[in-house]
Amino acid sequence: MPPEDQSHKRPVVTRFAPSPTGALHIGGARTALFAWAYARKHSGRFILRIEDTDRKRSSPESTRGIIRDLAWLGLFSDEGPKYPCMKSACGCGKGPDEDFDPYNRQLGDNGPYFQSQRAEQGIYDHYVDLLLEAGEAYEEDGAVRLKMGDHRGDIVFTDAVYGEIKVKAADLEDFVIRRGEDGGKLPTFHFAVVVDDALMGVTHVIRGQEHLSNTIKHAALYDALAKITEDNVTWARPVWVHTPSIINPGGSKMSKRDKAKVVRAYCKNQIEEIGRDEFISTVSGVDLDILRIPDDEAPDGVNLSDMDFAEFIDGTSDDMNTGNYIARKCNLTLPEINVDDFKRAGYLPEVCLNYIALLGWNPGNDLERFDLDFLKQHFDLDRIGKSNSTFDREKLKAFNGDTLRALPADDFACLLADYVKAYRQDWGEAGVFNGDDWQAFCAAVQERTHTLPDPLDANAYLIKSDDAIQYDFTPKPVRKAMTGNGGAGIRLLEELRAVFDGLPEENFGHAAHETINKTAEAAGINMGKYAQPVRIAVSGSTVTPPLDVTLDLLGKSATLERIDRCLAEAKTHMETHA
Ligand code: GLU
Repeated sequence: MPPEDQSHKRPVVTRFAPSPTGALHIGGARTALFAWAYARKHSGRFILRIEDTDRKRSSPESTRGIIRDLAWLGLFSDEGPKYPCMKSACGCGKGPDEDFDPYNRQLGDNGPYFQSQRAEQGIYDHYVDLLLEAGEAYEEDGAVRLKMGDHRGDIVFTDAVYGEIKVKAADLEDFVIRRGEDGGKLPTFHFAVVVDDALMGVTHVIRGQEHLSNTIKHAALYDALAKITEDNVTWARPVWVHTPSIINPGGSKMSKRDKAKVVRAYCKNQIEEIGRDEFISTVSGVDLDILRIPDDEAPDGVNLSDMDFAEFIDGTSDDMNTGNYIARKCNLTLPEINVDDFKRAGYLPEVCLNYIALLGWNPGNDLERFDLDFLKQHFDLDRIGKSNSTFDREKLKAFNGDTLRALPADDFACLLADYVKAYRQDWGEAGVFNGDDWQAFCAAVQERTHTLPDPLDANAYLIKSDDAIQYDFTPKPVRKAMTGNGGAGIRLLEELRAVFDGLPEENFGHAAHETINKTAEAAGINMGKYAQPVRIAVSGSTVTPPLDVTLDLLGKSATLERIDRCLAEAKTHMETHA
């Protein structure tokens, strides 16, 4: 008989236990959120533990990224490695150090919180020895295996989401708990996870359903270890809570492969259209022969070997070094998969959390919008569903837009300025994101922003050089406003140009706007007839924020320069299309 489940009688302890082998996936963030919320709801503790026993695949960069992303989401642990110096939290004003040493700052009484360090301290060896002594495990070819089969009996456990799981003794094989010499005598994932959860007092193991089948082994380990009495450790099984998978609308599991798929589909399409060799040389920007040189002999600047490329295209490899390289070269937008992708794409942390909480958890009453405080009060296990949850990007975007729209104007302006500083150096260098003009721009675009880069992309003309604005007089609205009706718009623009010339540079946009109003009124013509040609001249399109704001940001000389170019091109267009 397995020992009685005591977990409900102990203070709640949950943990998030990522393997630092890559970036924090949005599904990992949901696991962390559920574990965090459950601990908060029950006034318990939430632990961050780094499972880095796979030395080859683990990296400090990945650990740093995971800690940074959790901090961005606001999911702070009570124990574990800590994010250094959150600007808002510590107030030193220095801001976070992106290169922090993740091993250096670990807080809590149950450390260290890196399994590599725990292994070095001999924590796992100690329990392996006890199991060997007790006859629960044995050594073969240097590896230690846990006895299963008739020795252990049938294994039954109840998952809080998926219900009772039962496997017969005859179907259970002995399994390795510590690898042999070749594996560095390191504990396997199964063993380390169980020992650590028990030593750290974890009462609720919340994790993705891909671990459901592993849980049979974990249950067996708890039972075996429970036979070894040690005063200070409770080997009672925890409550297991496995969360449903997050899937794409097409039904596939949402994974980093989705990015590779997009890149591969693009490559295949291009190869079909322009031929393989031609495409490779476009991508690499270098001669195909140079590309064929192996990586380690390639001259500087050649980052993609023919081999990498071939393997990526035929699907042998999903290596995103190659994928990202091609995506950058070809300006592809890849689907957001990791927390950092969503951050870069201009989503807000609170919106991400709200949205991912709905993937698999249902707060009831058709409620959809809530914050972390709500989760702290209401999150519980009984409303986690079994069926896979579809990641709906449009819905997330709509949530993000709603939240951005509802922000006080100043907050929105600050957020957008921070975003520009972090990810859009092109805007930063253009120096347009300071002062009143920036505030006015933000106020004008806030209403239509879904993700932070939207207004930057839609108004790219603001930071382009004057001669980079392209004019196309063929689309209907442009034709109507400019070249149509015998070039009526051209004449109105010329009329304005003459008045703009005499306006002061200070507050140019406001003065220009007034000019448009007055001129239109005096002429008895609809104001839009004057305004549209100006919009086209400064932006190349008929859609811009209000002209006073737009022209203030551009300034007088840029405005006049663009009007002149536009007039000249519009006239040429009319002559050639007469
Ligand atoms: N380290 C495991 C992973 O990243 C998690 C194990 C667990 O939560 O028990 O998938």
